[in-house]
Amino acid sequence: WRTGQWIWQLSSVTPRFLPLCASDDRLVPGKPLRAGTTIVSDGGDFALGFFTTSNSTSYLGIWYNGISELTAVWVANRETLVNNNTFSRPTLSLTNTSNLVLSNGNGTGRVIWTTNNIATAPGSSPSTAVLLNTGNLVLRSPNGTMLWQSFDHPTDTFLPGMKIGLRYKTRTGDRLVSWKGPNDPSPGRFSYGGDPATFLQIFIWDGARPVYRNIPWTGFRVKSEHKYQQADPNASAIIAYMAVVNTDEEIYVTYSLSHGAARTRYVLTYSGEYRLESWSSRLLKWTVLAKWPPTDCTRYGYCGSYGYCDATAAPVPTCKCLDGFEPTSREEWDGGRFSKGCRRTVPLRGCGDGFITMPLMKSPDRFTFISGNESTLEECAAECGRNCSGVAYAFANLGSARSGGDMTRCLVWAGELVDGGKIGEVPGGNTLYLRLAGLEALHGPGHERSNAAVIALGTSVVILLTCIFVVWLKFKGKKTKLRKDNNKITFDDMSTSYELEDGNPPHDHELAFVRLEEIAQATDNFSETCLIGQGGFGKVYKGFLGGKEIAVKRLSMDSQQGTEEFRNEVILIARLQHRNLIRLLGYYGEGAEKLLIHEYLPNGSLDANLFDDSRKMLLDWETRFSIIKGVARGLLYLHQDSRMTIIHRDLKAANVLLYAEMKPKIADFGMARIFCDNQQNANTQHVVGTFGYMAPEYAMEGIFSAKSDVYSFGVLLLEVVTGIRRSFNSQPMVKEHAVPPSWNMWKEGKTEALSDSSIMDTCSPDEVSLCIHVALLCVQENPDDDRPLMSSVVFVLENGSTTLSNPNQPTNFVGRNIEMERIRDDIQHSMNSFTLTEIQGR
Ligand code: ATP
Repeated sequence: WRTGQWIWQLSSVTPRFLPLCASDDRLVPGKPLRAGTTIVSDGGDFALGFFTTSNSTSYLGIWYNGISELTAVWVANRETLVNNNTFSRPTLSLTNTSNLVLSNGNGTGRVIWTTNNIATAPGSSPSTAVLLNTGNLVLRSPNGTMLWQSFDHPTDTFLPGMKIGLRYKTRTGDRLVSWKGPNDPSPGRFSYGGDPATFLQIFIWDGARPVYRNIPWTGFRVKSEHKYQQADPNASAIIAYMAVVNTDEEIYVTYSLSHGAARTRYVLTYSGEYRLESWSSRLLKWTVLAKWPPTDCTRYGYCGSYGYCDATAAPVPTCKCLDGFEPTSREEWDGGRFSKGCRRTVPLRGCGDGFITMPLMKSPDRFTFISGNESTLEECAAECGRNCSGVAYAFANLGSARSGGDMTRCLVWAGELVDGGKIGEVPGGNTLYLRLAGLEALHGPGHERSNAAVIALGTSVVILLTCIFVVWLKFKGKKTKLRKDNNKITFDDMSTSYELEDGNPPHDHELAFVRLEEIAQATDNFSETCLIGQGGFGKVYKGFLGGKEIAVKRLSMDSQQGTEEFRNEVILIARLQHRNLIRLLGYYGEGAEKLLIHEYLPNGSLDANLFDDSRKMLLDWETRFSIIKGVARGLLYLHQDSRMTIIHRDLKAANVLLYAEMKPKIADFGMARIFCDNQQNANTQHVVGTFGYMAPEYAMEGIFSAKSDVYSFGVLLLEVVTGIRRSFNSQPMVKEHAVPPSWNMWKEGKTEALSDSSIMDTCSPDEVSLCIHVALLCVQENPDDDRPLMSSVVFVLENGSTTLSNPNQPTNFVGRNIEMERIRDDIQHSMNSFTLTEIQGR
């Protein structure tokens, strides 16, 4: 198919890259990068080096490492054309004044390109340029300050974690600029970026002429998920999580991808198409997941003035005239030529004309954005009618999504309406109020609202009836199922249901023993391409079983400890059901092979999101607060609300997995223990868990209880708010425990300063302060008298409180006890990898 072949050409003939000869992921002064060598990011996803196009021009660029069709995502010297002969022995050096300098002749010749940073003071320590695994080349001063990053200077590619935005003060913004041709990275005709006139929409331009305009932004801060099926039907769908972030200084859009997604990027092609492409490792080429403009009809202004593209029209999107308008030239219109647009059927009479409503529209272009004062629909209407020249208006209440700034958005049109569209029930649709002759009484906003009230009432009745019907069906279904499935286990609708064998976990839970061949088939024989993670006890694979996405945890065959944890997880978690606990769907356990089948959670672990620079910004405050509350509810269920009292014993950010909309589920029940009815605590010789999260009485004396989980929750809570890792894994343990500094800041009333810089714009200071207060109560040394129960924690997080007690100063128990030092050594030398460690016979 044509598009695919075209991409193949685009990348296969261009450019010719020099051989990979990886050295390091960073550049330091005195060790320049020369042609023939590359810098490869730690993680191996991207490479920085020199490449040559077929017209013998050399460029410094970043490209995807390790795929057969080499594809540049950033080019440094695209504006300076350097012939290979003049660009002899190109060199990239990091100078002592913290600048990256690209020059020819081994660094002694002409400067071709430089970062032009403000020079650091002479004599100060040297900076470092690191190529991150996100594809971002970052120049940092020795104290960690970022001096420059390639993500701030995009070329034609928008990578996950990058921002494309506009600065309010300077009215300047980021733009992707296409390549000139398939072989030519120099700046082409097309560009893509925010509209500095309105700050509300994004355009593709051909020079100064708009080619495509997206739906004007209707929310103050919007998050959206877009699911794309890949060309390979066996490959799982890729979800792009988009976020629009609006601060006092700037507005920008950024995105991340679902966990384990193939290499995926937005690119503005040299022919002016903005595409989302993903690399198919089976087809060995880039495939197009989506493109803009998606159709001719949606090209900018395609339907002419007062015409609009009806994207909901079947079988294909079609140009239509706005209500009350007709084609200017019927003949041309019927012949498929729409550029002359439409004209009014009845000319406007003047100020007395009313407005007709057109719902679910993409607002046309050339509006005036009235910000601030128009806080109601009526006021927006009044603004439009103020001098009788307003021909249309649209209003959006940004209310619940607001994090600051204006509550509402009023757009008013005084001239021609161009590039409108009907988009149907997709986010961003807006009702357009259009002035027409002779409509004064019936079609104002008030009329629409009375309509809306009738519709809302009707809808409520329908929803209520539907709910009653669904509940009745469920109740009926449950009874049937109980009758049918007595002594039988089920795996939802899967065909793989077997009777549990004697000697295997008990019968009182619905859980499937799945055949090994089925699991092997589901994971492509445990292939590396299905591998999505590795924990202390084995590898985790993604697969499809019975039409569902699953995660298969394969316990290492040589892990002796795994057997008990495996039994534990199968017996224990199969009996639990809560929206904030991961579901175990099935298992296999014979001989040395032990497999756990969990529901697949597409967004990976909290830990992988929270401590990753490119993903953390998608965890805005609202999301973080809801994660905290979700984990708290899951833990409360374990401690109090399920049929048993369960102590998790290894609660940490790596054991919280995220599903749609970043909702959390507690995972990993291998270490969990069940308590009898009145049991308060237990003592163990086997201290298991992760340092940093372990309560002092547990780490030092082996005593665990619901309150030791509360301690871990407190540490987790601090991590979520501050974005700083407080647990110790493979790193040598720090001398100071990470909790006391938070207490000191709290004591000094500086809780706001504790919050992660990436949530500064979105956080509510009161909620942040409440969370830190609760966290500090949870990490108090005395479990019985001071640490709260999860029931109180959940209550306070959900309802707030003004009467919380003051937390005691937490203990700095690291290094307090020689035994602890020994444990630490044990951990570092433990056969278990990283965080999950069992310490024998203390
Ligand atoms: P440890 O077991 O040593 O504490 P861990 O909790 O990170 O470490 P695993 O539970 O084995 O180890 O998981 C490893 C990784 O696999 C997780 O970080 C996550 O990225 C991925 N993963 C595990 N289970 C799922 C799942 N159900 N859905 C999606 N990804 C998963």
